[in-house]
Amino acid sequence: MPTVDELKNELFYKPKHAVNLVTEDEVAKADEFCEGYKAFLDEAKTEREATERVKADAIKSGFQEFVAGKEYKAGDKIYFVNRGKSIVLAVIGEKSLKEGVKIAAAHIDSPRLDLKPNPLYESDELALFKTHYYGGIKKYQWVAIPLALHGVVIKNDGSKVEVKIGEAEGEPKFVISDILPHLGAEQGKRTLSEGIQGEELNVIVGSRPFKSDEGSELVKLNILKLLNEKYDIKEADFLSAELEVVPAFKSDDIGFDRGLIGSYGHDDRVCAYPAAMAAFNVENPQYTAITVLTDKEETGSDGNTGLQSDYLKNFIAYLAKTQGLEVYEVLSKSECLSADVNSAYDPTFNSVFEKNNTSYLNKGVVITKYTGARGKGGTSDASAEYMGKIRRLLDEDGVVWQIGELGKVDAGGGGTVAKYIANMDVDVVDLGVPVLSMHAPYEVVSKLDVYMAYRAFLKFFKQ
Ligand code: MN
Ligand code: MN
Repeated sequence: MPTVDELKNELFYKPKHAVNLVTEDEVAKADEFCEGYKAFLDEAKTEREATERVKADAIKSGFQEFVAGKEYKAGDKIYFVNRGKSIVLAVIGEKSLKEGVKIAAAHIDSPRLDLKPNPLYESDELALFKTHYYGGIKKYQWVAIPLALHGVVIKNDGSKVEVKIGEAEGEPKFVISDILPHLGAEQGKRTLSEGIQGEELNVIVGSRPFKSDEGSELVKLNILKLLNEKYDIKEADFLSAELEVVPAFKSDDIGFDRGLIGSYGHDDRVCAYPAAMAAFNVENPQYTAITVLTDKEETGSDGNTGLQSDYLKNFIAYLAKTQGLEVYEVLSKSECLSADVNSAYDPTFNSVFEKNNTSYLNKGVVITKYTGARGKGGTSDASAEYMGKIRRLLDEDGVVWQIGELGKVDAGGGGTVAKYIANMDVDVVDLGVPVLSMHAPYEVVSKLDVYMAYRAFLKFFKQ
């Protein structure tokens, strides 16, 4: 007769801490993998920078730029950049595309503050930028922290100026002010979500006037003069710019044991990086392996660089055509891991989680069967069959995984790109990394979970 403990061990589903499931060697590999991830976090804070960085790494790994209409053979590695803000990597498989492709889809945009089209103004001898926040943020978290400015300006002659300021050692940074607590009584009566309002997210960018005995807006004038000297731009050039304000923090190890990483923008570079690494390291797959790192997920995937557009489908259609196939013949046989984060259980704010169906830091990649809100509204809900298949795949390779739902029923909700790919007639499930303080300027993930995400994508591509 088995003991109670033996029987429980046999029959209960109880996810364990990954360190209890993997070798010490594996833990060391995870730590090493995450050093590369941290460098990526620090270097690629925006969708444009992530696209550039992944493209450069892809070229180093032997990927060639995709040429529409060209016939590719098994083992070929290609990349396709969509408007500088999203990138598709493909490794051509041994099997015909008729057998379908394997897609890993992550996003490389993160919540941030975008400059308004006409951002610069002067108020009481300070120069400031007006912003419009991008994605779901808690606005109060963005004040009184160091900020950096990233992006591009297209000048009237069509030339492009790349801006990245506030990151390198010794560079100036920017900041949004908050009211001191001594005078914060009125502000304190606001609800937390209104504590800082959208039009209060004004970034301080200067304080010294152009030296003159007369004239107004001299601080603004001085800033424009500096920008003109450095970038050869004028105020009207802001109209044709995409400038993004992001936290100026670097990524760090968190905790005495260094098991966690704190950083801006884990969502969703924490899946994008492992998915790209899996693309670089899968050699001669059976099925064509496609990694798509997309833009605009945080604002609903609309727009021609988001996954509601046809760019991924069109890319696959071009490949299909060269094998004499229609794109729908390929898609209906295809499978996808929608690689996005889920909310990690937070012991301090545990009331929003349902403990049996939430993901935890360090318990491996989280498979999210469905997202959505209010009775599964707006979700693709992966089938039992596909869930079963992914479970088997991960177990086969000893990839540590767990399941997770985004919070308690009716506590809130959220979505990913899963449904847009599912709507293309592809089997999809969300698989990614649990994140603490998701969408905060400084989010936290576990190194072991990041590594397990990489192993999951690699196994998915190698099936
Ligand atoms: Mn995400
Ligand atoms: Mn997000």
